[in-house]
Amino acid sequence: MNRFSALILLIFLWGLSSFAHGESLLAVNDEQSINLSSWLYYVQDSELKQIDDVINLNSSRWSRIESKFNQRLAVDPFWIKISLYNATEHKIRRYLSLANPHIDKISLYHLQHGQAPIHIEMGDSYPFSQRPIAHNNFLYKFDLTPQVLHTFYVRIETKGSASLPLSLLSPEQLVKDTENESLYKGFQLGALVAIGLFSLFIALTTHSYSYSYYSGYVLSATLLVATLQGLSFRYIWPNYPLVQPILIPVLIPIALTFVLMFSEKVLQLKYHNLRMLRICRYSAATVFGLTLVTPFISYSVALKINILAVLITTSLLMAIALILSLRGHKLARLYTLAWSGMLIGAFITSMMYLGMLQLPIMHQTPIMIGLSFEIIFMAAVLAIRYNDERKAKLKIQQEALRQSQRLRQSKEDALKIEANANELLEQMVQERTLELEIALRELNEVNQKLTEQNTVDSLTGVKNRAAFDKRLLAEGRLSRRQQTPLAVLMIDIDRFKAINDTYGHLAGDHALKLIAQALKQNLRRPSDLVSRFGGEEFAMILPNTSQEGALNVAEQMRETVFQLPLSWEQNAIPLTISVGLYAEVITDDQDINLLVERADKALYRAKNGGRNRVCAYTPELEK
Ligand code: GH3
Ligand code: MG
Ligand code: MG
Repeated sequence: MNRFSALILLIFLWGLSSFAHGESLLAVNDEQSINLSSWLYYVQDSELKQIDDVINLNSSRWSRIESKFNQRLAVDPFWIKISLYNATEHKIRRYLSLANPHIDKISLYHLQHGQAPIHIEMGDSYPFSQRPIAHNNFLYKFDLTPQVLHTFYVRIETKGSASLPLSLLSPEQLVKDTENESLYKGFQLGALVAIGLFSLFIALTTHSYSYSYYSGYVLSATLLVATLQGLSFRYIWPNYPLVQPILIPVLIPIALTFVLMFSEKVLQLKYHNLRMLRICRYSAATVFGLTLVTPFISYSVALKINILAVLITTSLLMAIALILSLRGHKLARLYTLAWSGMLIGAFITSMMYLGMLQLPIMHQTPIMIGLSFEIIFMAAVLAIRYNDERKAKLKIQQEALRQSQRLRQSKEDALKIEANANELLEQMVQERTLELEIALRELNEVNQKLTEQNTVDSLTGVKNRAAFDKRLLAEGRLSRRQQTPLAVLMIDIDRFKAINDTYGHLAGDHALKLIAQALKQNLRRPSDLVSRFGGEEFAMILPNTSQEGALNVAEQMRETVFQLPLSWEQNAIPLTISVGLYAEVITDDQDINLLVERADKALYRAKNGGRNRVCAYTPELEK
């Protein structure tokens, strides 16, 4: 049978059953990838369970799948059918690929002309290991022999999205698609995980609330994305297909709770708008309540509630951000931009899920793209906010530093002023002390002068009687202690009364002064003392001087006075003195007066002896 006749036969056979009803037959050639969505027929009847019943179903029961049906969520089990044949002359290997990893149960029957049907069960309600080909999508591999009609009957049962992205792929195309898809998903998840972990570490180290909520949001969103992409099932819980229908309805509200709390922080609602803050918090509490409820209600209802929650939350946050942006809030503007990506994605996906919008893409693709955009952009927003806060903190710190510096400066100034004041005070005290010292010294000098004046005889300038008495007492003690002789001389001017009487008292006074000076000048030792004893009498103290020594001194005095030239009114007046003396080592205080008495007795003797002479005391004088 040549190729042409075989084809005619095939079409004839096909036509018998279905062609009359407008069913189309797909001719497969070397094309690498064929989208099967426009070649699919479906029948929805929950009674139909056996393949034989389906095969024998009247072709009028089958109707072409419309994209509206294709996009629906949670539909009753239904059958789909596709017929194809190899239009080439060689054998072709192809994969039937269903790129929706969330279909619960897929019962695939492969019928080839003249052969028993091949039956395969797949779906995400079975453990992953049960899949004929370990792949994220559901794959069925078969060979198309030329000119043979292949018909596939597939029973689909699912609670979630009934989206049927069916395609026919060559092995090369499958490898290419798989690689591209893995790269895309890997990149998306990698970016989300990196941002999530990075935020988590920042949250742990800085205890920042916004980063904590953000990392909670990103990590729960990441797990949600991985689950929606079928990757969590494959790699995290491959043997527990029941996890997924519980987890998805929980993860969505958890992510929403975090996003509400995070938004509240990043938009600083506490400082900008308390009403918005309250709305945000109530919404977060409500959405969190969903996580507790959804595991206990039917999956499809939970999913619908969640979609509604996503729509409401995203719109709410967008509205808040927009209002704040219009009021000039810088971060809110960036937030709006970031959030708009998420909002658009969420809206498109939700509309698709709810059957209100049909697009030639997977349901979750828009929200996935929006989410990735939003998360990456939000990381930037958070970084900006963190930096703003850091700057504000730095400013406060700098201000505090400046203030403390000012404080220190004023303290230093105060100390300086105090030090200056102290110095001034000290200086003043010193000055006063100096003045006082000077005054004291002056007083002392005056005092000394006064006492000196007290000891000096005003007429003659030699010591007076009081000074003589005081000195005699002191020298007496010294003599006694040192056992040295002490000499006392009593001097009396001869016939002085006659001078007064003849020339007047002034001449007498002059003579007194002259003789006193002469006596004073003749003293050799500094310790010798001459004093006016009274009237025209002088007394001398010669310490450490024996009687012989005293006699010598007395003789010299007498001689000096005798030589004195006293002229008064052109008259030369002769002057002589008589001296009586006594010297001994003092043994008792009483001896002092004895000294003067005995010297006086000797003087009396000198007068009697004829005047102008010196006489020492001898014991015979007592008789
Ligand atoms: P002599 O001692 O030699 O026996 O004779 P005299 O004339 O010195 O005797 P007397 O002692 O009696 O006289 C002392 C006189 O000295 C009496 C008094 O007038 C005179 N006289 C005493 N003090 C002063 C004085 O300060 N100035 C003057 N000008 N005369 C005085
Ligand atoms: Mg006399
Ligand atoms: Mg005399």
